[in-house]
Amino acid sequence: MNPALLPSLAIIGTDTGVGKTVVTALLASAYKRAGLSTLPFKPVVAGLTELDGDNIYADNEFLARAAGADIDQVGLYAFPEPLSPHLAAERAGVSIDISRILARFQELSRSWPAILLEGVGGALVPLTAELSIIDLIAQINIPALIVTHAGLGTINHTLMTVEACQRRGVPVAGLVINRYPGTPGVAAATNPSQLEALSGLPIIGLVPELDLSVEKLQGFEALAGNHFDLDRLQSPAKSQEKMEATATASEALAADAAYLWHPFSAMDEYLQEKPHPLMITSAAGCWLKDSEGRRYLDGISSLWVNVHGHRHPALDHALQQQLAKVAHSTLLGLGNEPAALLAADLVSISPAGLEKVFYSDSGSTAVEIALKVAFQYFRQTGRPEKTEFISFTNAYHGDTLGAVSVGGHEIFHSTFKPLLFPTRLTPAAYCYRCPVGQEPNQCDLECLDNLAALLAERAGQTAAVIFEPKVQGAAGILVQPPGYMRRVAALCREYGVLLIADEVATGFGRTGPLFACELEEIEPDIMTVAKGLTAGYLPLSATLFTTEIYEAFRGPYEELRTFFHGHTYTGNPLAAAVARASIQLFRDTEVLSAAQERAKELASLLTAFKGREQIGNVRQQGLMVGIELVADSRTKEHFPLADRVGRAVALKARDYGVIIRPLGDTLVLMPPLSISAAELRTLVNGTTRAIDHVLGNK
Ligand code: PMP
Repeated sequence: MNPALLPSLAIIGTDTGVGKTVVTALLASAYKRAGLSTLPFKPVVAGLTELDGDNIYADNEFLARAAGADIDQVGLYAFPEPLSPHLAAERAGVSIDISRILARFQELSRSWPAILLEGVGGALVPLTAELSIIDLIAQINIPALIVTHAGLGTINHTLMTVEACQRRGVPVAGLVINRYPGTPGVAAATNPSQLEALSGLPIIGLVPELDLSVEKLQGFEALAGNHFDLDRLQSPAKSQEKMEATATASEALAADAAYLWHPFSAMDEYLQEKPHPLMITSAAGCWLKDSEGRRYLDGISSLWVNVHGHRHPALDHALQQQLAKVAHSTLLGLGNEPAALLAADLVSISPAGLEKVFYSDSGSTAVEIALKVAFQYFRQTGRPEKTEFISFTNAYHGDTLGAVSVGGHEIFHSTFKPLLFPTRLTPAAYCYRCPVGQEPNQCDLECLDNLAALLAERAGQTAAVIFEPKVQGAAGILVQPPGYMRRVAALCREYGVLLIADEVATGFGRTGPLFACELEEIEPDIMTVAKGLTAGYLPLSATLFTTEIYEAFRGPYEELRTFFHGHTYTGNPLAAAVARASIQLFRDTEVLSAAQERAKELASLLTAFKGREQIGNVRQQGLMVGIELVADSRTKEHFPLADRVGRAVALKARDYGVIIRPLGDTLVLMPPLSISAAELRTLVNGTTRAIDHVLGNK
């Protein structure tokens, strides 16, 4: 083993008392024998040991002797009571400061080529009110080595620990079984092979029960022995797989530059990103990893789609199960089980009245279907003059021409005007820059007076009003004031115009409830869903309709009432199977209430931005956030387009391990619903530091 390739590791136990400290010390000795001087670092020790009448922190002394290091280097926090670190610290009147541990780790890394950081207890043991050991390791960004023991229960504990690591994007370099074989028997005999097979990880050492008194009498070297096969450490740098991955990564970067035209991207800017554009190669939980092995918190849920985290076991499983049956079969004239069952699921969770489901494959196509059906509906119910649509300024409903026709985003849409059908735009709620000059929270929704007037004048010619309920997403997370949605819905009812609620961005828990429509108990005639429908796995969308609308399309073929529309991959079984599994997670787990809790925490984190120079407006609804940066907070003046301030902040945030994407100069934060409190802090901290860096320089 080339000693230079030996990685720093975080040694974590499957439980307390599995012998992490002994394994850490032995490993330090093995590293030394391989030619790399290594420091064991135990940032927190909880529990004094009585020895020869003295109370000492025996673990730290043992580690220091093993490494020939100073005891002060080995430890940082020490608490007398053998309790979980957070509690032990609290009872000692201290609070553990994670940034202090991070700083010490960095300082030690400058003098020691490798550090063996020993955890405290198991992976999820709390270090502070918000952070567990595994969160610390994720922030330090080193692989974990899991110490377990042989016997009953070890498989469960070990696999849960591996999963906890993976959920936070911490790679696991291998397993060590301590005090092997423990009680000899079938469990002990089969544990190593079972663990390797089930976890896919190498066992790098079977350490027997050691007589620690040997160390006292004859010194550490006499105790150490040779228990590890360091070549088996799954170090990304050394594995063949990694070498192949590196070759693929550079090939992929070249191909990306040579052949790919990226969506919504000014290609000159994109190609100039330094050192080069990010290439995402893997992901777990809320974390993305790039081809260089760097980790980033997915602060925009991979463009607002991810819900339960990446590579969620239940979703992976559903996809694999369906893959073993059929990947695709058409819905044109045939049925497939997942698509049918998903339709039933969707009807059961959607606002009352929506009872029929038409599938397609993106938010845009779901909107096209909504518009075409609304148009055809009136032709087939004796009111063919109702052909027009009303939509809102700043609206975004997708990029296909029908969706663009009902869009109101100047920069995205104005080029295509000659190709579009005319739509009447009515002012949207943009309370920070109120279109009718009212003060936020003190108005009577005067911005909707224009809609009322339009309907009074044009309802006879209008098929539908289309809007994004509660939040106009791509407009910059513009949150509508209370009562707004209900008023829109009431006006549509009053004037006999269909209401299309575009829940492509807001659906599946983003705004708090499952659908934004629930916030004001509105019941649209048509609803579109996409993005979060498959929790970020596969492209699938659906347009839901009332039975009344559906009935207008029935009748003998020769009457040609059919809706002649359908995309090739409509109702794809793989996508439908994942969507069903995601809905099941909403039913079986606390994902919605946890996300609502996170939204409250997020609101309190965002108060730090209040009143700051050049942060004009911070808008939040659930886990959707828009932070509007302005050149002058008093006049609300925009930055010049050419300054690309929003983009500069988003690029800088990557240096702090966070992926965000701006809409103009509004920074959007929209993490997966499964984000933890600690990860939320990372997201806001990274964003804040990036803003400070960019605006501080302006
Ligand atoms: N409607 C809304 C409200 C959206 O936010 C989006 C996408 N951001 C779309 C429709 C279009 O969806 P897609 O990109 O899947 O076509």
